[in-house]
Amino acid sequence: MLSWHINTLTELARQHGRLAQALLVHGREGVGQVEFASAFSQQLLCENPTKEGLACGCCVACNWFALGNHPDFRLIQPESMAPETDDEAAAPKKEKKSAQIRIEQVRELQDFLAVGTHRAGRRVILLHPADTMNAATQNALLKSLEEPPPGTVFLLATSRPHRLLATIRSRCRAIPLPFPDRPAASGWLEQQGVADAETLLALAGGAPLTAARMAESDAHRRRLIEQLRDARFDVVSACEHCLRVEPAEAVGWLQRWVYDLLSARLSGKIRYHVEETGTLERLAAGPEPTALAGFLRVLMSARALSQHPLNTRLFFEDLLFKYRDLIAAT
Ligand SMILES: [Zn+2]
Repeated sequence: MLSWHINTLTELARQHGRLAQALLVHGREGVGQVEFASAFSQQLLCENPTKEGLACGCCVACNWFALGNHPDFRLIQPESMAPETDDEAAAPKKEKKSAQIRIEQVRELQDFLAVGTHRAGRRVILLHPADTMNAATQNALLKSLEEPPPGTVFLLATSRPHRLLATIRSRCRAIPLPFPDRPAASGWLEQQGVADAETLLALAGGAPLTAARMAESDAHRRRLIEQLRDARFDVVSACEHCLRVEPAEAVGWLQRWVYDLLSARLSGKIRYHVEETGTLERLAAGPEPTALAGFLRVLMSARALSQHPLNTRLFFEDLLFKYRDLIAAT
């Protein structure tokens, strides 16, 4: 539960009896819509709530919820956002996973709604990000929203509520989520171990989760660079850092590093990694400038492809092996 959501959660808890059956949880990117909707789902299902009405965190329902298998809860999200299963990791599918909530996922809800609840209480369906439903999918959802069985609550979480049909929005009670004030947000970031919370928060426009993601991604960037400094680095472990962020961002890290290598070789000037000047000069002394420039072109086209790699791991391992071969001569 995020500290800046507690007021809204307790306010909703006070309204338990007269809660709408569909809620539209919205706020700007980085405020934590899905975190809020998830905490609220748990609160609705909790069988022993606190006196403020928040989830207790230790009853049977809370435990099931934490394990992701409460029988009266459904999370509907695009396949691309679901964690990779062991089978998929072993044998990646040829097809790219959908970035949208598909109409079949919404239609399958009919079966879930047709049976009684397992704990004789509430049933909660969380759709996130709700704006990834196209018009046909939203219309399919509308049927369920119009006549939900008693005790059923739909939570639609999004940072783009304007992308939902007016017919959907009019069925939902809007729950706007505000950003916490700066001291509360930076206090939370510091608790998460983020150094430089104020700066990151300013860069993130006040969005605490965006700032936290930026801190995390920068930590991976720095650890990747540590590996790239060593001509015998372990490609598999370096690859892990690239897989923690959007592919285009990780390709960007490699591009800036190789740009600096080429620039160190040709002009002795360093643009992005000034603190690494000594290392860059040492590494750049080996490969031919044409080879470095060639690899920079490879990275440029990789960046164009990075929106749709079939297998992100192979995609980055390939780039990292090429990089290692390039500097191995030094
Ligand atoms: Zn509980």
